[in-house]
Order: sequence, then C-alpha cells, then structure tokens
Amino acid sequence: MPVNISPGAGHTKKSKPLPSDFETFESAKLARTRLICQLRKLDDPAATALADVLGACRKASRCGSGACPVCNRVFRIHLAGEVKRARPSAFDVLRISLIPASFRVESGGLADFDLRRWVSSRHRTIERALPPESLFAGGVDVSLNTLENNDPHWCFHIYGFVLLPLGWGVHNRSKVRRLRAELERRCPPVPKSDRIGAEKVLTVAAMDSDSFDDAVLYAHKGDFYRRSRYAYTRRKTGTRSTNVTPQTLPRSAKVELSLFLARFPLGSRLILIGFRRRGTLRNLNDAFRGTFVDGHVVATRGVMVLDPDDWKAVFQAVREFDGFTPEDDPHGEHDFGVVTFKGERYFWKIDYYDLDLRAASPDPTDPAFTVRVMTIMRADEY
Ligand SMILES: [Zn+2]
Repeated sequence: MPVNISPGAGHTKKSKPLPSDFETFESAKLARTRLICQLRKLDDPAATALADVLGACRKASRCGSGACPVCNRVFRIHLAGEVKRARPSAFDVLRISLIPASFRVESGGLADFDLRRWVSSRHRTIERALPPESLFAGGVDVSLNTLENNDPHWCFHIYGFVLLPLGWGVHNRSKVRRLRAELERRCPPVPKSDRIGAEKVLTVAAMDSDSFDDAVLYAHKGDFYRRSRYAYTRRKTGTRSTNVTPQTLPRSAKVELSLFLARFPLGSRLILIGFRRRGTLRNLNDAFRGTFVDGHVVATRGVMVLDPDDWKAVFQAVREFDGFTPEDDPHGEHDFGVVTFKGERYFWKIDYYDLDLRAASPDPTDPAFTVRVMTIMRADEY
C-alpha cells in the first residue's frame, strides 16, 4: 500500500523546533526581496513577470513559484512534516548522494532544459535500483560548477534517503555495496574528474534514523551556490591541493536559475518513491478541465464535424460541467462526465499518460510525471 502524503497543502504541526541552521522565515523573505530587485533591474519581460508574481506572494495567497524562496521554505517544512507523518514508526535509513552523468548544461543554457522530464527519468531509474520494500524521499539540488579554467556549467545533484524495514541490513557492507552498484549501473554518476572537491559522485551510507526527520528538511534544497574547484600549490609543502569553497551565485546566474525554476511548479525537484500525494487527483483534473492548460484536449470526429460555434459551446459546457454522479464518478476523481448540447449527449474523459505519451503515468497525482489527455466525444462514439 502506498503511503499518502500531500506536500503543498494543509499545514504542519510543529512538534519540535527546526534545526538551528535551517533558514529562517526572515532570511527567506530577504532573499525573495533581493531577487525581486535583481529581476526588476533587467529590461526583460519574463524577469518583470516573475518579479510581479514574487512581489504578490502573501501569507494568505502564496505565489507557489518554484523560484520563490519563501514558498520553497514553506514547502520544505510542510514536506518534512508530511513525510514524518507517513513514514513507518520504525525503520532503517540509508543516505544517498548522487551526481548523475546525464545532466550538464552550459551556463546560459537552462532555458531549453526540461526539468520535469529529467526528474521523471531519474525517478524511474532510482526506483528500479531500490529494494521493492523501500521508500525514498529526496530531491534535486542545482549548482553552478566551475572546474579550473573551464566555462561554468549547471550541475544537478540528487540527495535523498531510503527508508528500509528494520533488519534489512543497512550496516551490512556487501548489501549496501550491491545497492550502490545497482544505482551506479542504472543511474551512472559523473566521472570522478568532473566532481568538485572531495565529495563522492555516488554515496550510499547508513544514517542514524533518529536524525532522519531533521535531515529530510534538506532533501529539497532552497538555496543555490556556485562551486569552483581550482588547483593550487601549497607554499609550505609544495603539494597540489584544491579549493572548493561554495560561493554565492553571480547575479546573471541567479536570474537564469530563478527564471528556470519558475517554469515548473513548486516541488518539481522532488523525488518521492512509495509516498503518494493525497487527495490531489480531483483538484488536478478540475484545474485542467477548467482551463485546458497543462495537458492535451482531443476532440473526436463526431465533435469536430459540428459548426465552430457549436463545438466551442460543447467545449465550454465541458469546462463548466459540475453534474457529477456516483454512477459516472464512483471514486470522486472527476475524470469523466456527460454534457448535453442541442439534444445530443457528449462524453468527456481524462486519461493519464507518462511524459512521452507512450504509457500510463506512474503517478497521476504527481504533475511532474503526468500528461493529462482529455477526450471529448459524442456518446455514440464511446
Ligand atoms: Zn511565494
């Protein structure tokens, strides 16, 4: 049975204070104000539009932008609370850190990159590598990396936690090595020469499960850095060494990253395996049907032979439909309905596909892995 969680909705009970190094509300707000200023300074319509969205973010109506530091903080706290509520009471945990080889985008190239497709594909490979009884909560961190004299490039880094049943053997070295090898095979990491500093390109390590609830706050990072590696020779010993201090992002990179993150809903960097988002299916279906945005609408021949004014009226009736019955909508998912126009009955039906439109969505409650397709047809075409 999947465990239900619903990041981004409801609220979190604060049973204990946040870790002392977790960003405060004030610091997130300051980061948002600074970002708005930087965006406004540019003479760019997309930057101005994002500044407007961020500027309108209030407690009662959060902007929900993937680029908003305040919304990100709220989201992370909420996510950690929901994962805590949904996780087993006793479990063992492995920490995973992975820099996949398949992502490397030159600075300035993020505009063409489809984050959701990339995350969805990493989600699938990680899922296949993990033992079937495990849960995974993690996310993707972005940094701007510079290796010696090369041009900077964006690097995505996956960080997360595998929750395993007690007794699985997180301290059993050969078992952990096997899992690590499986991850390495399915989701190959960058070559060691491309890493920054001493960090490993792939780590799988046992972690104290008592610290899980705090640690999971960091699974979906909210602040982003530039990391540089440059070699230098130690004066005293003459040995070669590297400096890898994280630095703040240059302004142009920060703007590029913000515009990129704003293209995707909050939580698009999240990878949850075995946890399911609760109660959102109906909301997502209603939102899609009401706007026809974020999915495909297909009309059959029986609808398209109508006069344009008539098929537009049928479409409008589908948008406004509110007559759900227990017979047509037994699970309350709002994925099917019937409208009548000029005495003819028309059905509408929503199906859930993966991003390639080839197979069923692995999780229709998660927009990151789902393309909704609504078919509108005459009843006799069903
Ligand atoms: Zn916001």
